Amino acid sequence: MLTDYHIHVERGPYTVQWLLNFAQQAENCGIEEWGISEHAYRFKETRHIFWNRWVEVRQTETLEDYMKMIFKAREQGINVKFGIEMDYFPGKEKEIEKFINSYPFDYIIGSVHWIDQWGIDLDEMKEEWDKREVKDVWTSYFDRLVSMAESGLFDIAGHIDLVKIFKYIPQDTDFLQREYERAAKSLAQSGTAIEISTAGLRKPVGEIYPHPDLLSTCFRYNVPVVLSSDAHCPEDVGRDYDKAVELARKVGYTKIQVFTARKAKSYPLYPQSY
Ligand SMILES: [Zn+2]
Ligand SMILES: [Zn+2]
Repeated sequence: MLTDYHIHVERGPYTVQWLLNFAQQAENCGIEEWGISEHAYRFKETRHIFWNRWVEVRQTETLEDYMKMIFKAREQGINVKFGIEMDYFPGKEKEIEKFINSYPFDYIIGSVHWIDQWGIDLDEMKEEWDKREVKDVWTSYFDRLVSMAESGLFDIAGHIDLVKIFKYIPQDTDFLQREYERAAKSLAQSGTAIEISTAGLRKPVGEIYPHPDLLSTCFRYNVPVVLSSDAHCPEDVGRDYDKAVELARKVGYTKIQVFTARKAKSYPLYPQSY
């Protein structure tokens, strides 16, 4: 079994015709289990949760239109899961919970992209990295990741070491391992899965999320995994999965999670062809 649960179709319209391009690519890659996880901030229905200026101008769509596309596709026999990628902001748990319980999602990806008003992975805010102490940023990032896991609101934690994106990485390996341990512990305790995401290979850091040491730590704590590409175009669905599967196996993972109506089931990681 292979999954690709982290796909954005936002660069095109919410039509089945556009979605079919992604379906075709999933099929080409032998991915049976896949779903769309649009950024929650894109939808007018999340205006009361996400408030900053960067997000506001992008909040142009309605969740209804997105949902309708998924349901229409299913009527046409396309096996697509209905997901969402939700930004985690500490203190917004109640609003987030209410929102995610209002729609029939198959899974919720929780992601930390923001440290207060700073989008840590945004090119246009990259200069902020040079103004801060790298270790402090990492600590703030992992604080948020841990409270996101502890909230228990999310099925999957997205790209759990996104903070490495621009290669501002502390050299202190003891420090890193301490951060990894507390992240893995909180994810395990709340039963949140993580994704092995090939998106990092397409970013300045040039490596999979999470780092092999972080993935090993998660494995040690029995944190379940899914495979994801974080594709923003059809060509990126299932991209570099040979590398993701190789890493999963190397660390010891033999199983993968599948989500339906927010219930997880475990399947063997694809045994052949990789
Ligand atoms: Zn993300
Ligand atoms: Zn994403």
